Amino acid sequence: MSRHEPLRSLVCRLATFLAIICGVCLLPACAVVKAGPVGLPLTTCVLRDAPGMTAAKLFRHPHGFDCKTPQVRFGDGDFWLMSQPLDVTAGVDRLAVRSSTVWQRATTVHALFADGTIVSIRSDDRAVSRDLRLGAISQRWLPRRQAPLVRLLWHIEGVSNIRGLLLAPTVATGGEVGRSDIHLAALYAAIAGACTALLLFNLGLAYALRHRYMRFYCVMMLSLIAYVISSSGALAWLTPDLANTARMKINYALLALTGISALAFLGDFFEQGVMTARLRRLSIISSVAVGVPTLGIVAIAPIELHVLDTAYALGFLLLLGSVVPILFNAWRQHSAFLPFFTLAWAVPLVLAVVRVLWGMFGGPYSFWLDNSSVLSMTLEALLSSLAIGHRVLLLARERDEAREQEIAARLLADTDPLTGLLNRRAFLRSAIGCEGDFTLLVIDLDHFKRVNETIGHDGGDEVLRIFARTLRQSLPADALVARLGGEEFAVVTGANAGALADQILDRLRNARMPFDIQVTASIGTCTGPLMREVDWKALYRSADAALYEAKAAGRDRTRGSPALQRFAA
Ligand code: GH3
Ligand code: MG
Ligand code: MG
Repeated sequence: MSRHEPLRSLVCRLATFLAIICGVCLLPACAVVKAGPVGLPLTTCVLRDAPGMTAAKLFRHPHGFDCKTPQVRFGDGDFWLMSQPLDVTAGVDRLAVRSSTVWQRATTVHALFADGTIVSIRSDDRAVSRDLRLGAISQRWLPRRQAPLVRLLWHIEGVSNIRGLLLAPTVATGGEVGRSDIHLAALYAAIAGACTALLLFNLGLAYALRHRYMRFYCVMMLSLIAYVISSSGALAWLTPDLANTARMKINYALLALTGISALAFLGDFFEQGVMTARLRRLSIISSVAVGVPTLGIVAIAPIELHVLDTAYALGFLLLLGSVVPILFNAWRQHSAFLPFFTLAWAVPLVLAVVRVLWGMFGGPYSFWLDNSSVLSMTLEALLSSLAIGHRVLLLARERDEAREQEIAARLLADTDPLTGLLNRRAFLRSAIGCEGDFTLLVIDLDHFKRVNETIGHDGGDEVLRIFARTLRQSLPADALVARLGGEEFAVVTGANAGALADQILDRLRNARMPFDIQVTASIGTCTGPLMREVDWKALYRSADAALYEAKAAGRDRTRGSPALQRFAA
């Protein structure tokens, strides 16, 4: 166990570092990067639409606009929004009017130039989609004019006022737009690339390991990649005729799928016992709490969008909230997988809670907070991937330990505990079945009963150990040696081992024994085939007969039986 501890703590520390870097630095860094709401920020005042109002009249007499009330308080309907007075000259560059998209039927931008010209550009839901830039920013190019741009007026029709009427409006030059597109393209490409790499790597692992949680992880990654494509606005390029509100519905659905599959992944990832029946029920309820409003939004939005959007946000709060007791239970159960998951979920949890509360309590619109789901879920996926890697490491450790135990158990079953030599069963398993002729030596210690009587049973054991060691040192490396039982040993070696028996006896005579007693042995040998069980029996019988002769002839000597021929099958 402890062998892997330094590695584990190092990986944990690295992951923490990564999480802190990403979580703490990434979002503020994004805000600093000149991307998304680039250009001159515009402040707007609001006027509810009424019959007879026109852009020309409102530019001439900009009365009645409300500059104080937060936009979300105005409710749904048709509105006029007027910018502060401007003095923007494009020079050789073009000017673009940009804002984040909202639920609406159509928007007309009216641009007033210093020479009195008013340029109006109307975009319905489909046209918004066609003009979408990276970051899902709706953008209209103004025609090039000599006179400076002095004011902007938007007429917004059929808005479902969820987060505001006009989000993060700016006027930007072509250069700023280009730079923003490059920065956002790099960011989204990095996210999509990381997600695709994680998906492929985990698909490979899913195929190899066949764990259930891997499937949920892959679904999570697929929906996250799809969400990146849809919420970045890239989907609008792929399908220019898709209405922008349809794309927003897809965003809701994909984010829900990402969240639900992330929770399913979390539920299946931990050790058995972490997900109690109650926690399983909670995660099903929270998945339903996200899924039902999502289906509602997809089916009927913008009808009842306020209710459905709030239900969706609450469902997500519940889903994120249900992660907490799962992690808590994992902590109580001393889960080995907990550190990565706490890290993986910490950032999305905090960001999502901030985002949901910010949405519910009408905080000022922030492009980066609005787009934080992509970043935090990517971070979650990345750290979850580390968690999977860590889990594979633990699996590998378990496998290594099991293998070591198996080897140890097999060694124990195959060896004689007193001498460490092979036991009879293992010896026969290895000896029988080889092609060719072999010499069998059957060795029996002389008068061992007497040895026991002289130096005691423990002393006798020590003699057996010393003899086993002496025997091993006398034999070639490829010889098989075993204790057949009691004070009887056997050696199988190559056919031409004539002098070997005498060498063994010689070494034994010179071996230092307890109390310096003299121990000798007698050896019977025989050469023959060892292909089958029957060969062994014949060979052993002959060697044993030779041993008997050696004993009868006065002990401390060797005798050989004539070589045996192969039996007919
Ligand atoms: P011989 O020269 O004819 O082989 O005489 P021997 O005394 O060696 O033969 P015998 O078979 O009569 O006695 C073997 C003795 O070995 C009997 C038994 O107590 C002893 N013995 C068997 N296994 C062990 C053991 O594991 N440890 C010890 N200390 N003694 C053992
Ligand atoms: Mg004996
Ligand atoms: Mg004996």
